[in-house]
Amino acid sequence: MTPPKSIIILGGGTAGWMAANLLAHHWSDRGVKITLIDSADIGIIGVGEGSTPQLKAFFDILGVTERQWMPQCNATYKLGINFEGWSNRHGFDRYFHPFQSELDGQILPAFYYNALARRTARNVPAHPDLFFLPTKLARMGNGPIAKNGYPHQLSYGYHFDAHLVGQFLKKLALDRGVRHLDRKINSASLNTMGEIDAIIDEDGGEYRADFFIDCSGFRALLIQKSLNEKFISYGDMLFNDSAVVMPTLPAMAADKGPNNYTGARALSSGWLWNIPLTNRTGNGYVYSSHYQSDDKAEIEFRTEIGALEDKGHVRHLKMKVGRVENSWVKNCMALGLSQGFLEPLEATAIHIVLATMEKFIAQYNNPENTDIADAQAIFNEDIGRRYDGICDYIVAHYKLNQRHDTQYWRDNAQNQNLSPSLKQIITTWFTAGDLTREIGRQNISSYYSSLSWHCLFSGYGIFPMEDKMIPAGDDIRHYDMQEIENFLADHADNFPSHAELLGKL
Ligand SMILES: Cc1cc2nc3c(=O)[nH]c(=O)nc-3n(C[C@H](O)[C@H](O)[C@H](O)COP(=O)(O)OP(=O)(O)OC[C@H]3O[C@@H](n4cnc5c(N)ncnc54)[C@H](O)[C@@H]3O)c2cc1C
Repeated sequence: MTPPKSIIILGGGTAGWMAANLLAHHWSDRGVKITLIDSADIGIIGVGEGSTPQLKAFFDILGVTERQWMPQCNATYKLGINFEGWSNRHGFDRYFHPFQSELDGQILPAFYYNALARRTARNVPAHPDLFFLPTKLARMGNGPIAKNGYPHQLSYGYHFDAHLVGQFLKKLALDRGVRHLDRKINSASLNTMGEIDAIIDEDGGEYRADFFIDCSGFRALLIQKSLNEKFISYGDMLFNDSAVVMPTLPAMAADKGPNNYTGARALSSGWLWNIPLTNRTGNGYVYSSHYQSDDKAEIEFRTEIGALEDKGHVRHLKMKVGRVENSWVKNCMALGLSQGFLEPLEATAIHIVLATMEKFIAQYNNPENTDIADAQAIFNEDIGRRYDGICDYIVAHYKLNQRHDTQYWRDNAQNQNLSPSLKQIITTWFTAGDLTREIGRQNISSYYSSLSWHCLFSGYGIFPMEDKMIPAGDDIRHYDMQEIENFLADHADNFPSHAELLGKL
């Protein structure tokens, strides 16, 4: 399989410019011509400011250093997500979901063991915050990059200004030979095989290529409007369909700098994000319009972020939650919001953009692939499974919530629209089964690892025999929690404050 000779990317949001850069990096020396067409009049969605460690991998592939991109995009480091108010169980009103690093392997056995012991009614500590270095660093306000000589590397993501990242990526792509056109595209013409022949702008101008990447956002102009690819809604599992967003002044401790984690606080009909940048805090309330009107959501949102009296402008957004059945159809691949969206709870959208692009390029670069239809089928199966796997993890946050104070949370807890995979994971947990083995059996650990699943269940404090707890006797192993705390504190000492790290950039 040789790569298409010419590729048009429709859309210049984060997805479009990420695709342009990756294609230029991998294929420009193979003569592939890359053109990106977008419309300044339409603009980009401009939200999506938290990432997973995949964004670091993306910049590493392109050879872009943090010093080159982070200060230009007001970016900060992210060690994980702080969940607050998702459970009303005593002692479990908040927990931290860290990005997993190699060092965690030394402590994981104790965490998993205690979580299992607690599921069998032994009164041992099993709150995830007691076990992980990123959590410790987040609470201390330290950054994720250690001083020289420290032998371990932590996984981390970033927070950033989506508009500025877009501009940075655009410049990078143009410098690497990508052509850019500002045109508003109205339609596409298809050939007799049903493939896209050309896309057509509002003045009738036609743009032809061998392959098209649809990065037109929620509009999904090519994959859905032209090629009619089926959209699979996740709406019966994920109720949130709206968001209201507004930035506030940066909140930071004088000597520590901005927070190094995303805040995810449960509210009456959804949850509130706080994303700390160097110059502001991004805030957004993601909610379900079936349970709360936009006006009421805005009032609750403004109250929570202390902006009730502030006349500052909020933006209301609608979200289409689900995915296209196949991301790659004929000579078109959907990428970004046109491909699917899961709501931003775990900030996975940019992560999936990169995973999709890597998989797409790998299909052509794999010398064993000779048949495009086979490669396409494998690709679509893989991407679909990835979406569904990530969806299950996000759904679990709602299904397992321990609030029950509003109809929204009660309905989420009652929701029976769960995939067989998620049902099995929940059953495994509540029957004191081996969760790690179950995740391995289902082959889903590359979407969310056993650590992530353990953090979610344990972080909510949902241990099936919690009310029948007995003191832990000699029949189980006792991990010395002070020793674990000392281990974490010793390692944490090697990490400078977040402010110091940002200052070095
Ligand atoms: C509320 C919310 C919060 C989010 N939070 C996160 C997060 O924390 N982390 C994360 O990873 N992701 C997040 N996302 C997702 C993230 O915003 C997107 O994945 C990311 O911005 C990529 O968007 P995109 O490039 O697909 O679409 P867009 O940014 O919408 O870009 C679409 C592009 O298509 C162009 N276009 C559209 N129609 C036409 C036309 N007719 N002619 C020419 N050009 C056209 C536009 O001009 C634009 O350039 C969030 C999304 C929402 C809705």
